[in-house]
Amino acid sequence: MSRYVFDFIDGNKDMKDLLGGKGANLAEMTRMSLPVPPGFTVTTEACRAFLHTGALPAELFREVEDHLRLVEARLGRQLGDPRDPLLLSVRSGGKFSMPGMMETILDIGLNDSTVLGLAGRSGDERFAWDSYRRLIQMFGRTVYGVPAELFEAELDSARTAAGAATDADLDAAALRDLVAAYQKVFADHAGREFPQSPHEQLYAAITAVFRSWNADRAVLYRRQEHIPQDLGTAVTVMAMVFGNRGPRSGSGVAFTRDPATGRRGAYGDYLPNAQGEDVVAGIRNTMSLDDLARIDPAAHVRLLSIMERLEQRFRDLCDIEFTIEDGELWMLQTRVGKRTPAAAFVIAAQLVEEGAITLDEAIGRVTGEQLAHLMFPSFDLSAAPAPLTSGVPASPGAACGAIVFDSAAAVAATGPVILVRHETNPDDLPGMIAAQGILTARGGKTSHAAVVARGMGATCVCGAEEMTVDPVAGTLTVGSAVLRAGHVISIDGTTGHVYDGAVPVRPSPVVRLFEGELSPLGDPLLAAVQRLMTHAAHTARLGVHANADTAGDARRARRFGAAGIGLCRTEHMFLGPRRELVEHLILADTDDERSAALDALLPLQRDDFTELFAAMDGLPVTVRLIDPPLHEFLPSLEELTARVARSEALGDDPGRDGRLLTAVRRLHEQNPMLGLRGVRLGLIVPGLFAMQVRAVAQAAAARIAAGGDPRPEIMVPLVDTVAELAIVRSEALAVLAGEEGAPPIPIGTMIEVPRAALTAGEIAHEADFFSFGTNDLTQMTWGFSRDDVEGAFFGRYLDLGILAASPFETLDTTGVGELVRVAVERGRTTRPDLITGVCGEHGGDPASIRFFHDAGLDYVSCSPYRVPIALLEAGRAAT
Ligand code: ADP
Ligand code: MG
Ligand code: MG
Repeated sequence: MSRYVFDFIDGNKDMKDLLGGKGANLAEMTRMSLPVPPGFTVTTEACRAFLHTGALPAELFREVEDHLRLVEARLGRQLGDPRDPLLLSVRSGGKFSMPGMMETILDIGLNDSTVLGLAGRSGDERFAWDSYRRLIQMFGRTVYGVPAELFEAELDSARTAAGAATDADLDAAALRDLVAAYQKVFADHAGREFPQSPHEQLYAAITAVFRSWNADRAVLYRRQEHIPQDLGTAVTVMAMVFGNRGPRSGSGVAFTRDPATGRRGAYGDYLPNAQGEDVVAGIRNTMSLDDLARIDPAAHVRLLSIMERLEQRFRDLCDIEFTIEDGELWMLQTRVGKRTPAAAFVIAAQLVEEGAITLDEAIGRVTGEQLAHLMFPSFDLSAAPAPLTSGVPASPGAACGAIVFDSAAAVAATGPVILVRHETNPDDLPGMIAAQGILTARGGKTSHAAVVARGMGATCVCGAEEMTVDPVAGTLTVGSAVLRAGHVISIDGTTGHVYDGAVPVRPSPVVRLFEGELSPLGDPLLAAVQRLMTHAAHTARLGVHANADTAGDARRARRFGAAGIGLCRTEHMFLGPRRELVEHLILADTDDERSAALDALLPLQRDDFTELFAAMDGLPVTVRLIDPPLHEFLPSLEELTARVARSEALGDDPGRDGRLLTAVRRLHEQNPMLGLRGVRLGLIVPGLFAMQVRAVAQAAAARIAAGGDPRPEIMVPLVDTVAELAIVRSEALAVLAGEEGAPPIPIGTMIEVPRAALTAGEIAHEADFFSFGTNDLTQMTWGFSRDDVEGAFFGRYLDLGILAASPFETLDTTGVGELVRVAVERGRTTRPDLITGVCGEHGGDPASIRFFHDAGLDYVSCSPYRVPIALLEAGRAAT
């Protein structure tokens, strides 16, 4: 019984944890009797053991030998046999795909004697030497860290010496000489001869793949994609097949549907007489599958039928790697393919139509983040100049920024930049993350730049062949135009166009669909979005409300699907020209002066609420009583001090400014966020909350008189103890009792101080509802000032792994989440019908929404533009 090694025959697609995605799916294809070269997979468990101890587990060697013998028996060919050698590929592959981030070594098993056997058996000396030089190069780079440029330099001089235009023009003798040169480079750099033992090559390759799990770029990629760092990679060892054996051979990659648009029908790139690496590297320009159909119709038909079977098995878009050796088709990889956000929606809806998946499954195939991407604006093409040039539209979006020519410059830049490269490689990853968009001169939709950009949701145009990129000179040249670093360009990842200068942007069609300005009829993307969103809204248990303070925002939120307003902040109602009234309030010396100031504010607030209730007729509107410290409404200390000093210097009486200055000094606090704000204001400033409650009641009464259906609720911020809430509530009830014609108005509280969460059982006696203010709750639970820490030390904390994400973006479910759970439970024990919601930023964050669903909350509230995203996530959480 094996522990660390599984033959392809013994695995299946559900074993990704142990076999990695590549190993599990090769096993699945083997089980489906598809043409897969024989092989086996060394498990991620072996990798974890290796990373832990620094050595391959002892049992591993015997297990590998046993499985190798099975492969040898199946093919009738042995590793290291000088007459007819078996060659192997050693491939990385973790549970989650990390394209190009880890290592793969091909042609293991070649040495000075087996190369002759390969030449003899294949009758193709050139091919044998070409494979050998590839092995030395890949092995040298991966296992011994020999710089790729050293080999490239030898290849260049070989080409020059032979007067050859490309590698393919080098003959057998030239390649044999190149092998000798490579061996010298290897020995010089590695301090030893190139290993002639195929078994030594094999174990060194396995070790190198395990090590590549912790390569910098792989670590960075995982952090970016939120893939855990401790999973480890599996290693797949399989018999080589050769796409570089002449014109009847070749390699390709293909998708069962277009990964950019989702359009039905196979889509791919093919390179005759090439190994798989050559296709992705973009060194030669590829052909389409239609071209393959002309060159080799039988293989093409076979390929299409296999792709159809894969789609049926995986019930999703698949991407594949294949190789044709002398007319014979081999499958080398498949997986559920990455796709653009638009394609994700279109494909999910198509699969429902085709009867392959249910609507519940379909909403599981798209994410809130993808929808967020579709809601981004794009270029306004009517305002665009003629494109400077065009390339392959590899990853959609509209990006505009200054040209940078390398990853470091993109990382260092302070403003938006476009990373411009001849082609990208995995070392460019930091720059690709930092840049607004990526533009390359070479490569197709399956090139490194394209694949990585799609995964990140970054805008990318690749293969813009008219342009020449010279990173040394720092120029991008198209025809007679020479653009330098810092020059602003715009790239359109949907059309592939590249523009000189900044092109204006226009709203996304998906947003216009939500706004009711566009019909989904005849547009596959809009129809798919509509269908999936309808289902999500229907499935969701968690309600989605919006944070909105104005009637305009409220109307938009409602069009976007909000079932109410979960947070109406009232502080904006005290800004602008109304500041002066607040100043009167603060400066009031007598009860009469204070009442006069409040009386002046009352009608203004009432009108604001009336408009808001009209916009949300029939839906709840939760009005939060004033929260910020009062001094936020006064001029700053510096400004007032200067004004007073100026008056005094002129011999004038500073008058009102002098009184304001005194007030500002009196109200000054060391920690205003922990100071006189929220419910404390209501208790300290007589009449302030009462005025707001009265305004709500009168607005509601006015709406009812006008035939409307207002549903106001009143929410008290920053409560620490039930005693505070009890006083405010009884005063509010007294005010409401005195207002005629108003509907019943629930009075609830925010839970945003840890003490309130812990004493929620008591607080619920005085609250009709709870709304978790997760911004303050996070700040106070961690003791982090959210206005100060993000720039100060969060970056370092993320690097050190202390934080996985900013707790202000994604709810800290273990700490802050525990307070939420405790408060919900204790609150409902007191009051089983207690309504609970969330009104912090987390209400629009996909991962947090799932938590709120699981914690049994009734609704989340978020900004109007996040409402569709929250609805989709709420639907997904419920399936
Ligand atoms: P990645 O995960 O970066 O795509 P792969 O392990 O898929 O790396 O391998 C890199 C390239 O080598 C691919 O193009 C693949 O098709 C090719 N390759 C891998 N194994 C074999 C094999 N046994 N025979 C021929 N080509 C192979
Ligand atoms: Mg691959
Ligand atoms: Mg708050």
